[in-house]
Amino acid sequence: MDLKYNIVSIIRKKRDGQTLLKEEIKYLIDQYTADEIPDYQISAFLMASFLNGLNDEESAALTESMLHSGEIVDLSHVSGKKVDKHSTGGVGDKLSLILAPIVASAGVPVPMISGRGLGHTGGTLDKLESIPGFTVDMDLARYKEIIGKHDLVLAGQTAEIAPADKKLYALRDVTATVESIPLIAGSIMSKKLAEGIDALVLDVKAGSGAFMKTKEDAIKLGEALVGIGTQFEKETIAYVTNMNQPLGYKIGNWLEVEECIDAMHGEGPDDIMEITHLLSGTMIYLGGKAGSVKEGIEISKQQIENGQAFQKWLDIVEEQGGDVEMIKSPTKYPKAEYEFEIKADKSGFVSEMNSFEIGMASVELGAGRKKKEDDVDPQAGITLKKKIGDKISKGETILTGYTNKPSTIEAASDQLFGAVTIAEAKPEEVNLVSHTIDKKGSRAFKL
Ligand code: URA
Repeated sequence: MDLKYNIVSIIRKKRDGQTLLKEEIKYLIDQYTADEIPDYQISAFLMASFLNGLNDEESAALTESMLHSGEIVDLSHVSGKKVDKHSTGGVGDKLSLILAPIVASAGVPVPMISGRGLGHTGGTLDKLESIPGFTVDMDLARYKEIIGKHDLVLAGQTAEIAPADKKLYALRDVTATVESIPLIAGSIMSKKLAEGIDALVLDVKAGSGAFMKTKEDAIKLGEALVGIGTQFEKETIAYVTNMNQPLGYKIGNWLEVEECIDAMHGEGPDDIMEITHLLSGTMIYLGGKAGSVKEGIEISKQQIENGQAFQKWLDIVEEQGGDVEMIKSPTKYPKAEYEFEIKADKSGFVSEMNSFEIGMASVELGAGRKKKEDDVDPQAGITLKKKIGDKISKGETILTGYTNKPSTIEAASDQLFGAVTIAEAKPEEVNLVSHTIDKKGSRAFKL
């Protein structure tokens, strides 16, 4: 082991609010990737960084060290501009599963590497794995083969891609060190820059169900992400979108896949479809298949209407070992053993849905992890019957919970009941998308 730097001194330096050298950060990431530093010391470093922050130079050093902890994939065998999307994480955020087949079916290759659930947020990999047989684990050769064949691959981090992030991501999930701009930016951008893309679209969530609770913080995160993308010469566009209530009506792994299947049949909820088409339209534009984002959105809508997005989805599910019959007939999927309802205790309008609490309740029911090694339950989750702005009468069902662990129902019910506010007056409608951020900076969103 290289003893040039002392890990305890690095932790102490960050604990005391000092600035770390680029070499110290590289040493720490290299040694952790090589399993030379135990989780407990990295946990202490993460918490110190969370509390005291990392400046721009430290952030850049962290991203670069994480990126170079593995390979940068060469996708030159795939023609066309390769474009991916990444979300900073939300509740009910299943958009990747809908937009990836839309964009690939429009002729823009999407080499998508996703993460697992993190904290109260769901993860694309856990959702994909709820499809019986679907595999997200593959080596680089297989990753390249699939994207070459279908213009699409939906994978977990291969051992070669940003292995430092893979380890850190799992650790941050269970050490309450997720909601930090430099840690999120390093995590997202190291994976995305490593996967072989030419351009990137980012969905930066703001609100109760996001890691950034305010628009101001979300804009800062978006600027950090776009700044890194630009520094690495990848065209990057970010949107700040509202996460003050879950997206769509379903939360939980298979439940969300079901909602995606509806969306690909043209029956998706309005909020999901509005953001999906914006993101996929932007990807189609960045991939050079549309002259503007607006035109990209029209192409995105056509890909749903002409059935090509759904066909691409069936092709990729089959290629990655998933049960295509289950996708064609989702009602065959077995339901969770226990079901319970949360009802309104008064009449009025739903005025607030605390998505953090709803996400945590869904973790409690089994849809997410409390410890790194926990398995997720594909059947567990929540179906909303009402959303913000909907009228509700006393005794009417607000949402239904599903679980295979009956011991979780009481705590989850209390959490869910407390997460929903009913008011007399109808709340004002809010825009789903508030800001655009690109290399020119951030501005109010306008198509
Ligand atoms: N998504 C990631 O990939 N990493 C984070 O840290 C948060 C969201």
